[in-house]
Parts: sequence; C-alpha cells; structure tokens
Amino acid sequence: MTSDDLLARHRAVMPSWMPIYYEEPLELVSGKGRRVTGADGREYLDFFGGVLTNMIGYDIPEITDPVRRQLDTGIVHTSTLYLIRQQVELAEKIARLSGIPDAKVFFTNSGTEANETALLLATAYRRSNQILAVRNSYHGRTYATMGITGHRSWSASSLNPLNVTFLHSGDRLRGLLAHLDDDAHIDAAVADLREVLATSTAGDVAALIAEPIQGVGGFVSAPDGLFGAYRKVLDETGILFISDEVQTGWGRTGEHFWGYQAHGVTPDLLTFAKGIGNGFALAGVVGRADVLDAIDVVSFSTFGGNPVSAAAGNAVVDYVLNNDLQANAARTGAILHEGLAARTKDLGIVGEVRGKGLMIGIELIEPGTTRPNSYATVRVFEECRRLGLLVGKGGLYGNTLRMGPPLTLTDDEAREGLDILVEALTIVDGEVQA
Ligand code: PMP
Repeated sequence: MTSDDLLARHRAVMPSWMPIYYEEPLELVSGKGRRVTGADGREYLDFFGGVLTNMIGYDIPEITDPVRRQLDTGIVHTSTLYLIRQQVELAEKIARLSGIPDAKVFFTNSGTEANETALLLATAYRRSNQILAVRNSYHGRTYATMGITGHRSWSASSLNPLNVTFLHSGDRLRGLLAHLDDDAHIDAAVADLREVLATSTAGDVAALIAEPIQGVGGFVSAPDGLFGAYRKVLDETGILFISDEVQTGWGRTGEHFWGYQAHGVTPDLLTFAKGIGNGFALAGVVGRADVLDAIDVVSFSTFGGNPVSAAAGNAVVDYVLNNDLQANAARTGAILHEGLAARTKDLGIVGEVRGKGLMIGIELIEPGTTRPNSYATVRVFEECRRLGLLVGKGGLYGNTLRMGPPLTLTDDEAREGLDILVEALTIVDGEVQA
C-alpha cells in the first residue's frame, strides 16, 4: 500500500476539512528516540513531535514499560467512577507542580476538552458568559473553544455560544502593537484591555484566556510581564486568568516550567494536554480549588485520566523532572535560536526567528517587506523533508515554520536539524531572490 493509495482512501472516508501535510503525504510507521521512519522507507529527524505531542521521544523504555505493566494487569480501563491509583498520583504531582496553591485537577482526553472545562468552570464561578481571548489564538475545535479561537482558519466563530472579545496579540511584524518595544507594547496592551472592558463588555467578564506563546498562531509570544500587567486590571473586578499551557508547559520554553512564569503572575486555571501523555490521550485542567469545585452538578469523563494514559502521564512527569528536561530545552534551544539568528540574518525571506527554548518559529516574508510569504514557507517545509527533517508550519497567514522537537533532543541532533534548516532556507531564499 503506497501513501498515495492511503491518501485516496483517507479523502474518501474523512471530512474535507482535515489537513494533511506534504505534497507526497507521509505515513510514519516506527520511531526511536527523536527519529521516525516513514512508509517511504526514509528516516527523519523529528522537529515537530506530532505538534509537540511526543515530548520525551519515541520508544523510550521509561515511558513504555509502565504503560505495558498497566496493560499486563488486564485493565486498559474500566471507568473513572472507580478509584484509579495512577490518576490520583498524577493529579497530586500536577497540582504540586502547577504553582497554584491548594490546586485541584480534572483530567480530560484532549486540550479542547480541557479548555472547554476551564470555560465551564470560569463561567459558572463568575456567573457570566463573557470571555476575553487574544487574536491569533488557538484553543480547540468545539463550539466554545472555536469561539475563543482568534485565528480565522480554525474558527467557525459565528457559532460561538459565549460572548467573546479579542485583545491584540503579541505580533511584532504587523498589527497595531507591532514594532513597539516591550514596555510600550505592555502599556498599549493594557490600555487595549481597559478599553475593551469599558466599551465592549458589561463589566462582569468571567475570564481572560491566553497562550503564553501562541502555538498554532506561529509561536507568537507576548512580551514577558504582560500577563502580570493584565492581572492587575483583572483583579480590580475579580476576572479569572486562564493560562493555556497545552504547548508551553512542562519546561519546553527552557527558562520556566510553565509559560505563565515569565509574566510574574499565577493563573487561576491552567490547561495542559499534548506532551503530558507522550502520545497517549491525556489532558486536563488544574486550578484553584474553589473554581474547580464551582459547578453544582455531577459530571465525569469516561476516559479522562484512564489508567493507561495516567501511567504514561506519571512516567512523563517523572522523566521530565528526573532528567531536568527544562535545562535540556534551554541548552538545545539556545543552539537553535543562536544558530538560526546568526546563519539566516542575510536571508531576505526570514522575517523573524522567535520563540523560547524548544518552541522555535521562523516567519517568512517577501524580501524587503513584512508581507507574509506562504509560498516560501511551503517550499522550505518540503525541502526540509527532502533533507530528512520534519518541521511544522502555521501562523495566521501560513507563513511560519514551527519547530517543537522532543525535550530529550541532544546537542548533536540540534546541530543536525539546524544545518538542514539553514540549507533549506538558503535554497529557497536563492529561488525567491533569483
Ligand atoms: N490549546 C492549544 C494551545 C493547542 O495548541 C491545542 C492543539 N493544537 C489545543 C488547545 C487543543 O488541543 P487538542 O487538539 O488536544 O484538542
């Protein structure tokens, strides 16, 4: 079976709106460490980890052994209506790591559901359906989470069940706050928040939700300290702050364990997903006990925090802490950030290299302008694959390359990926400028 046959079958039975990467679609059949092998017989260095999902890497015994031990008990899952030791232990770890005092945890199967739960809790706690979100954000694919997603390609926002207003994003290349230095950006963003509260809401807003670094939006980051400055305004009327750490959590940014910590603020609710399961479906919301306890109904998730996923989650958290993967992300991330900054500075198509730690975005532009260059982005993306490197793409205009390798990346692998990225960018820059 070639990938082409599989693509035709995929197209025949799956909805038209599911994107598939690459001109020649790729089927991955095995993985080891930071490398995956395709049905095309080629090995690739994986700098995307399935949208930052394979946080530890592939076929790591410290993760797979505890999962196999759980399978060996004969119980994949029964019900979360019974006590699940793995789940309680993982909740204790996450509550402690969250930095939120006396926190409680609710497990779900996806980031979407985690954010949906956070919205449910915040709106119930505050008795308001007004939410503030950020332009260029992505929070999920249900009605409510699409409604707080400020990214046109991913949001059917006319179906929004919530009353949502969007704040300006941290985009440094275009938009009203572009080209401002950090202090001026924070002042202008806070003024925007005050204006939105005064003009576009009834005042009783439930929560502000934001990603410390916008993932799908192309690794756009708010200036450090912005959420702390927002918080002062939110605290005047008790508006909750939700940090969507689905992409930024568990040390990926290198400098902190959570993205919010760069902002001098503690969120009321924090949502997590993706990397925590290292491929298993595991996500959730952690936050203030009084907010987690805010809904006066009975509710549970059939699969959220099941024993197999929770076994993986416990193993992942232990691996991250025991091997100080945050420090690894900082060190290998620096190789990439510094190498890209130095070696792409003369390439006209490179508009900005941004992000933190092992979240690296390269925004491509038409040389000499700030106009998005989605053509060059696709070319570099395909060229990287040809050279043996998997990366992601995204951004509001589809013109950002996104790199989020497993946090176990070695220095040599960082240099190998860097060389391929620079080569691919140089080839395409030559084509565009010719
Ligand atoms: N929040 C963020 C920041 C995300 O990047 C994503 C997924 N890309 C989600 C929420 C939704 O997660 P899921 O796809 O697991 O529902």
